[in-house]
Amino acid sequence: MATQQNVCIIGGGASGVALLWALSQNPNNNCNITLIHNQPYLGGHSYSPAVQWNGKTFNVDIGVQFISPFLYPNVNDMLKLSQFKSRVLVDDYDSLKIACAFPRDTNNKMLNWGNFPNYQLYPTNPQDPRFQLYDADMMADAKTFQDFLEISITEWATVTLTDFFKNPPLGIVFKNKDKFVNYFLKPYLSIMNGYGNALMGETILADLFPLFAYIPFEKTPQGSFTKPGTGWQRFHHGAQSWVQAMADVAQSYQKSNILLNYTATQVYTNQQTGKVSVACLDENNDPHVYVFDKVVLTTDMWTNSQLLNNSNNTYYWNNLYQQYIGYPASPTNPNPVWDLMYGKCYIHTDSSVLSPDLRLQQETLQFTAYYAPGSADGNYDLEKTFTTYMQKNLLNDPKADGLYLTMYGYVPDPKVDKIPAQNTWLTDPIVWTHGKWTPAFMGGAKGNLHKAQGLGSISYAGQMNTNVYFAGNNATADSEEGALDAAMIIAEYAFGIPYPLPSLNPLAWFMYETYHNVMFPKLNASSSIARMLMTRPKSISAMAVTKKKVVAKKKAKPVTKKSKTVEKVVKKKSKPVKKKVAKIVKKKSVVKKRKK
Ligand SMILES: Cc1cc2nc3c(=O)[nH]c(=O)nc-3n(C[C@H](O)[C@H](O)[C@H](O)COP(=O)(O)OP(=O)(O)OC[C@H]3O[C@@H](n4cnc5c(N)ncnc54)[C@H](O)[C@@H]3O)c2cc1C
Repeated sequence: MATQQNVCIIGGGASGVALLWALSQNPNNNCNITLIHNQPYLGGHSYSPAVQWNGKTFNVDIGVQFISPFLYPNVNDMLKLSQFKSRVLVDDYDSLKIACAFPRDTNNKMLNWGNFPNYQLYPTNPQDPRFQLYDADMMADAKTFQDFLEISITEWATVTLTDFFKNPPLGIVFKNKDKFVNYFLKPYLSIMNGYGNALMGETILADLFPLFAYIPFEKTPQGSFTKPGTGWQRFHHGAQSWVQAMADVAQSYQKSNILLNYTATQVYTNQQTGKVSVACLDENNDPHVYVFDKVVLTTDMWTNSQLLNNSNNTYYWNNLYQQYIGYPASPTNPNPVWDLMYGKCYIHTDSSVLSPDLRLQQETLQFTAYYAPGSADGNYDLEKTFTTYMQKNLLNDPKADGLYLTMYGYVPDPKVDKIPAQNTWLTDPIVWTHGKWTPAFMGGAKGNLHKAQGLGSISYAGQMNTNVYFAGNNATADSEEGALDAAMIIAEYAFGIPYPLPSLNPLAWFMYETYHNVMFPKLNASSSIARMLMTRPKSISAMAVTKKKVVAKKKAKPVTKKSKTVEKVVKKKSKPVKKKVAKIVKKKSVVKKRKK
């Protein structure tokens, strides 16, 4: 048997913990694993703090809100496994009601709309002055756009939204194009795409197809201007329950060292030995240096730059990482390589952040441009908007009335921006650094990341023997599916652990393969086929036999000894935790047009 390798995973969000699970579930992993996480609980962007409100405890998801079987098929397959079914409850969510609220126009006209009848002027509320924006023209434009997405995606798939609206195809006529783009499409994209950024110049039509299209045999459309989105799911006890479950299941297979409240400060590879040192600070700010055979960073790429750009790692920084991870800017690399975003989230009870013109509160979430005057987009400034989730509607619990989650796509300045009053905060606000959701963002820096990956099952010219690897949502897409798939893909590439889910679900396999190709582009057609054959999931029956063997083996196996090279091992504190889509190019022959 090969010598055990000491492995470090940095970051205890969905991806880091999924990697822990992917490695631990395979009895042949040969790994002693240490996970270093800088918070007192696992979860990261999947954080669901327990808040007390109206005499009840609610797990409010401060980051992740929704998953769906269609867009997150590997997550869905994992949740069906018996170990997860009993630990992670998921609720269907088929009424994603979106409302958009804008500053009044120069005639003091209220400009609001929603994707459900009560927030639409035409034909439901002809007298209600609040919803004048959603008139017959706007309904026609929304329908024109949604129908176009369904029929012409093949030729127009890669066209950006900016270009599409500059030069719409012949025959596609909008009644009021600018109004539709400014008041419908941009706010909608700010919610879906970038938590406050519309990213029209970067989003392509194919990105919207899976959201807006009606797809046979799937609960769709998941998003729509005209009716509530369907086909979504929510974690009953918050997204964090899934991350914690992965950790618990992993620990039941193989004990690992989970170091909570440990912040990694430097990562560097010894050029001679190939060993990787991780310097970190514990909760008392005491420094430690641990040495590993392999290290996987699941932190965002800006954090990764800070970790890798250190005086012990000059060679690899100058000759490798600067080009592919590079941030902050340097004289030779004036722009950050990774185009990430910041945002800030508040859990609070301040209803004054809602638009005063939209007080029905029937929506799941309210996109609020009301407090964002300016001229950037129509008569509001898209940069200064935010989205507030009504917990009462989101959790389907009247007791959550008055409990809100407000997400900004930027870090607001309390002096000039409308933010929830401090005395209403139920937890400290969180600042996120995040990537982008849609497939269009899988090119660029992401498409080159494989060159910075340590050596693995596929080799590329220019790679170096760093023994440092990158997973996490930045490597794929900014979603739970992206986080999980990135982990499974690194488990295979760097540790030889085959696709760990016992499923032949074609959608899951398609998603995994697509992300695999983003992280590790195929060298040529034959290597692509060879890889497919090598990693294709086993048949369900073969898998069942293997599983039985695994269980038998596991029972006989003593708890793995802790790493000898880890200079100090801190026991896990057993604190209970209370917390895209691939480019689908539609074949006209396969997907029928929605019946009107
Ligand atoms: C506001 C918001 C809403 C979202 N909504 C959804 C949604 O509805 N559905 C969906 O699927 N996805 C959603 N996402 C995206 C999803 O949350 C992420 O893609 C996914 O959870 C990322 O997981 P990760 O493990 O890659 O990264 P993270 O969750 O960011 O995990 C990385 C962890 O590393 C830790 N860390 C950072 N620096 C260090 C260090 N120096 N040492 C040790 N640890 C460190 C961080 O604290 C963090 O917890 C949302 C994201 C945001 C920000």
